[in-house]
Amino acid sequence: MNKSESNATRPPSDPADPTLWRQWHAAAALPVVDRAIRDLYRRLDVEVASHHPVCRQSGRCCHFDSYGHLMYVTGLEVAWLLRHPAGRPPIQKPQRAQLPQLDSCPFQIDGLCSVHALRPTGCRVFFCDPTARQWESAVYDGYLHDLRALHDRHHLDYRYIEWRSALRDALAALKPHVTGGGL
Ligand code: SF4
Repeated sequence: MNKSESNATRPPSDPADPTLWRQWHAAAALPVVDRAIRDLYRRLDVEVASHHPVCRQSGRCCHFDSYGHLMYVTGLEVAWLLRHPAGRPPIQKPQRAQLPQLDSCPFQIDGLCSVHALRPTGCRVFFCDPTARQWESAVYDGYLHDLRALHDRHHLDYRYIEWRSALRDALAALKPHVTGGGL
């Protein structure tokens, strides 16, 4: 599900196994995987744009608790984002453990997404525009299916994780590999 998923449907918590994060991080460096993720996001953006959704609340949906929803991501998407210099959350090391308790996404700076080109599927599909309810679930499910297939093609484990928890676990597991920003 996308940003509007409720606590009631929240999947079991992820074991946060560091070996999973290392596996996804290594896979994200493969040109074939990198190309597949970029292509998937490109197709998704085109499809979303074809529905002409309107952003009415200027990034308030990135304040998860106050907006009243959660966002889920695949581990591979997070590892891929962290491979890019722009994808290092501007958050200081002592705050990392508190990431799941932060109301806001750490990538939102001055009301704007600082990783717009790298943002995960859930960010691309969710709009506060009420007309988006008519198509977003079907679009989201389709691209999540494609992400799952990408994992299968490359024999990768698949996990679907709450965004802020995923960032905390990824940063802890990938410490030697992910540096820069506020890390
Ligand atoms: S990555 Fe960007 S769009 Fe997604 S929740 Fe964070 S600030 Fe918002």
